[in-house]
Parts: sequence; C-alpha cells; structure tokens
Amino acid sequence: MPQLIVLEKIDGTPVSWRCSDCRQNFSVRGKFTVQERQKKITAEFKAHIEASHKSEALADGMAFAAGVRLPDYR
Ligand SMILES: [Zn+2]
Repeated sequence: MPQLIVLEKIDGTPVSWRCSDCRQNFSVRGKFTVQERQKKITAEFKAHIEASHKSEALADGMAFAAGVRLPDYR
C-alpha cells in the first residue's frame, strides 16, 4: 500500500508530500489550518490511490482480509 512521505515542512507543519510508490508529489500550500491541510492531502492521496494504485491497494486489502478470516485450528 502506498504511503505519504513528508517532503517539506513550513513552521513544523507538513506542506509537501510524496507517494512512496510512484514518487508523485503532492502539496497543500496557502492559508490552511493543520486540520484543513490534513483533510485536503488525505482526499488528494485517496484519489491518487484510486486512480494509480487501485489494484495494489485491493490486493493488499484482500490479503489482509484473507489473513483475518483464516480459521484457527489450534
Ligand atoms: Zn502513487
């Protein structure tokens, strides 16, 4: 599953990120609160995963679900 990696901070607040999988850059600049920024980057990254990494994300999710559902024979 791709992760967001912080590239740049201003005043201790992240403003620029990179996708760990494809190295695409994301940035949220301007007068936003930390919460607003977090919300924007989360939405943007989610859209990016849907567009670029959907199959990987699904495969990860399925593997995880399969692991959780494995019966315990002990
Ligand atoms: Zn990516």
